[in-house]
Amino acid sequence: MALSFEGSTTDWATLEGQANQVARLLIGAGVAPRDRVAFLGKNSADFFLAMFGVAKAGACFVPLNWRLSEPELGDVLVDCGATIVIVERDHQDMLQGAESRSGTNLARIVIDEQATLVAAAADQGTQAPEVWISEDDAAIQLYTSGTTGRPKGVLLTHGCFNRIRLCEHLEAAYQWHPGDSFLFILPNFHLLGIGLSIQCLYNGLSLSVQRRFDPAGALAAITQDRPTLLVLTPTMIQMLLDHPDAATTDFGSLRLTMYAGSPISLGLIKRAIAAMPCQFMQFYGATESAGAISLLRPEEHDLSNEGKLKSCGRPLPLIALRIVDDKGNEVPDGQPGELLVRSPAIAQGYWNNPDATAAAFQDGWYRTGDVALRDAEGLYYIVDRAKDMIVTGGENVYSAEIEHVLSTHPAVLAVAVIGVPDERWGEAVKAVIVPKAGEEIALAELSAYCRERLAAYKVPKSFDLVDVLPMTGTGKVSKKDLRARYWGGQQRSVA
Ligand code: ATP
Repeated sequence: MALSFEGSTTDWATLEGQANQVARLLIGAGVAPRDRVAFLGKNSADFFLAMFGVAKAGACFVPLNWRLSEPELGDVLVDCGATIVIVERDHQDMLQGAESRSGTNLARIVIDEQATLVAAAADQGTQAPEVWISEDDAAIQLYTSGTTGRPKGVLLTHGCFNRIRLCEHLEAAYQWHPGDSFLFILPNFHLLGIGLSIQCLYNGLSLSVQRRFDPAGALAAITQDRPTLLVLTPTMIQMLLDHPDAATTDFGSLRLTMYAGSPISLGLIKRAIAAMPCQFMQFYGATESAGAISLLRPEEHDLSNEGKLKSCGRPLPLIALRIVDDKGNEVPDGQPGELLVRSPAIAQGYWNNPDATAAAFQDGWYRTGDVALRDAEGLYYIVDRAKDMIVTGGENVYSAEIEHVLSTHPAVLAVAVIGVPDERWGEAVKAVIVPKAGEEIALAELSAYCRERLAAYKVPKSFDLVDVLPMTGTGKVSKKDLRARYWGGQQRSVA
């Protein structure tokens, strides 16, 4: 079995034949090599057929984020250059709205549960069409999360996807075994979902595809489908553990839970290790790296050595990392600086954005925009995004350190630390906290908790309690939106 979705299964030979049929359908609809073909819909077997069918037609696949607002989606439609979109019927109104706002008008292939892509392509031949493209042609144009600005279209070439196997295959780094089954519950418009599902299929693992993430559905699928592998973002882990059904879920089939996509707080990973009887592995990566850059192995998830749980691990084979100061000089171990990555699989650049490409891709290195440090053992730690780092009274403060401390407070469910304008300090450290349901939090107590564990200048000058933190469409805390609440129209000066 290659895929299972809503009670139907697809074997490998069928997947291959159907992907060829979809490629032929697209070519018949006028798609030529290097054209952009967009997809707007949730997870399904058709999503995978669309992705592989587009590749087999020699075109470039552009998965669209169905969580965007209409104006945001309109911006992506204008930017991406697609002329045709495969759209689920449920998302047609959203597409219509985005098109009328952006003045775009894409040809459509409309699909739904009955009128599937498989059915639409059923008349086509099952032989692969013959198309000629090069390794440097884009296979997938994937938009970043827009955590720090507007989403950028990252060009992931066929070569990137081929070469990523070199990095990840040298050492069975992921610790996957034949016979593993993977619960695919991640959004299909983000590298984590796309990269991992391609990697799983490449390794011959079967995917149990869930339409979308919701905590109750995910917990039920864990009990019923008995997957051995699970990949979640930290936000999803939090939602699972907070759900009342977590207490009765049978996690027994799970061998390995992987997590990635944004920083995980110390409090949350400790909670997950205590609640789920399986191994854990963390990935650090970016859309631009086409896959994982580093990983923290299961054996480094040791509750008796908490410090390591704050690390994103070590680089995968063939991936080189440098940590540099603002002059580009490498910093000694233990000191923070910007993390640069060199990998055989790095993206070609950003679509239609030469300035951003020139700023991020320099001399064969990708500038992640993440501030990191390496310890004496060679473990890497992401301490902040450069754009989120707080400069207060001339001191640099990295939000992850404070978030880790506050996340271990028993009454704190989630926390985000940001800099807010302050006449005396330039920026003052503020912690915005979601309390656990039913917990009373005295702000003075939070401050005392931090003072016991952090240098005085890192202790938040103020704490705010909120019900929810603003999130990006890919489930990351949007510090940009959080800061906007406190900065009004004022401009921040960032490194
Ligand atoms: P944009 O580039 O539009 O601002 P983004 O950086 O969130 O959005 P992605 O490519 O989705 O776009 O995310 C990559 C970033 O996610 C990394 O640069 C890093 O900041 C963060 N990240 C991913 N995995 C981890 C991890 N394990 N620990 C800490 N941060 C992580």
